[in-house]
Amino acid sequence: MSVPTAQLPLEDLRNRVAGRVITPDDEDYDEARGVLYNLDDLHPAAVIRVANAQDVAAVVDIARESGLELAVRSGGHSGAGHSTTDGGLVIDLREMKKVEVDPASRTAWAEAGATAADVATGADAHSLAVGFGDTGSVGIGGITTGGGIGYLTRKHGLTIDSVIAADVVTADGKLRRADATTEPDLFWAIRGGGGNVGVVTRFQYRLHELGDAYGGMLFLPATADTIAGFIAAADAAPEELGTIANVMNCPPMPFIPEELHGSLIIMGMIFWSGPPEQGPDIVAPFRALATPLADFVRPMRYPEMFPPEEPQPEDAPHFIPSSRVLFMKDVDRDVAQSIVDTIATAPSKMGVAQIRVLGGEMARVPADATAFAQREARVLFALITSFQDPAEAPIHEAWTQEYFEAIAAKSTGVYSNFLAAEGEARIREAFPGSTYERLAEVKRAYDPTNLFKLNQNIAPAPPVAKRRFGSL
Ligand SMILES: Cc1cc2nc3c(=O)[nH]c(=O)nc-3n(C[C@H](O)[C@H](O)[C@H](O)COP(=O)(O)OP(=O)(O)OC[C@H]3O[C@@H](n4cnc5c(N)ncnc54)[C@H](O)[C@@H]3O)c2cc1C
Repeated sequence: MSVPTAQLPLEDLRNRVAGRVITPDDEDYDEARGVLYNLDDLHPAAVIRVANAQDVAAVVDIARESGLELAVRSGGHSGAGHSTTDGGLVIDLREMKKVEVDPASRTAWAEAGATAADVATGADAHSLAVGFGDTGSVGIGGITTGGGIGYLTRKHGLTIDSVIAADVVTADGKLRRADATTEPDLFWAIRGGGGNVGVVTRFQYRLHELGDAYGGMLFLPATADTIAGFIAAADAAPEELGTIANVMNCPPMPFIPEELHGSLIIMGMIFWSGPPEQGPDIVAPFRALATPLADFVRPMRYPEMFPPEEPQPEDAPHFIPSSRVLFMKDVDRDVAQSIVDTIATAPSKMGVAQIRVLGGEMARVPADATAFAQREARVLFALITSFQDPAEAPIHEAWTQEYFEAIAAKSTGVYSNFLAAEGEARIREAFPGSTYERLAEVKRAYDPTNLFKLNQNIAPAPPVAKRRFGSL
């Protein structure tokens, strides 16, 4: 793919930022443009490894002045491929990953290029925690701005429910502090509205006491009864329990007898943040669903839920995802049976149905307190598969879409952080009620030309004579 470097004000860029500017002429360009899913093998004109908030502001200014498309990358895990661009600029925050924990006030400032594992590890050194998702390498920039659903959601809410303040560079290149009293509309929008209104350079989190805990992986045979039983047990458990049921074909894992490879299993992820000595009793109903195929649930600390992820060699197979996601009220036995039937017929051995029970603190936060409004969602369901040959895309897309349509009547909404590039109607579903309109108003105030458009994009509201929200 050709890169229109003619437009790139390279010298100006290099003069104005302290961090490294990487272009196709650099040896490590291919590594620098890498994101988890570079779906269309895009080639940015430059990747700027920003060193500080001033660099972010400078690149935002240059993008605005030059008209070059702008992508924002923190952990690079966008499933929709939003954190890179063809011929544009990438603000790459991965060098900005300082985590400063203040145990006395139980708060932490974390730069947006830190990963979930970085922050979890920094906080854990003081027996404190803030909840992220299920994967340590996910960037806090993306997961936090989109909401953040993980093992601590029922006890402490979404990740955004622990955000006290953030520093944000808006489209005019200004660095602003956003909190409950300063720039409150901006503060509202960066908690759930994704990257629509600016680039967060650092977040301040409220931390929760969490030391020794109990958790890990529990492998069970998957049947309609064990799936429905797993979800019922997760729902009945105290809020300190967070779970994910992954229903999948058993991969060739050495700790599971060979004759069971390929059979349908639940890979249950379980984390109990209550008193660790209660852990075995809390997990007993899951262990009683069937004789476990493997049981790694044990005393542990929160960061241990993020096992180390080895860097992939350059020639590692490149996987393309296909997924559909929805919130729903419950997973009864009929839905569980449909999951069994669907995974058993997946065209790829990598098909997985992922089910998370929500509620608790997440549901107690008022729907209009943040730009994540779907507080009543009970279950997050995702059907995910991946494959290597792009020519096979239609087969896998048809499989995820067919099940999505079959189960659509159960849908109560969708989670923006799990949305692929599925179009405006689906984005509207992610921001129900007045949320979409309010986000469009905040967008108009802070990004009237839609400079930040590589995201689950909300178009700026057209100018109106009378402004509806707060100071806007
Ligand atoms: C393997 C995997 C596991 C996941 N597990 C979970 C999970 O358990 N729970 C959950 O809630 N989500 C989960 N997600 C979804 C994840 O939260 C989103 O994909 C998120 O956007 C990734 O953040 P990132 O910083 O790594 O991504 P990036 O690709 O770097 O960024 C994605 C988008 O987020 C926005 N963004 C990123 N950084 C900033 C910033 N500093 N300021 C403003 N906007 C920014 C931009 O719009 C950007 O395009 C998972 C994703 C993957 C791939």
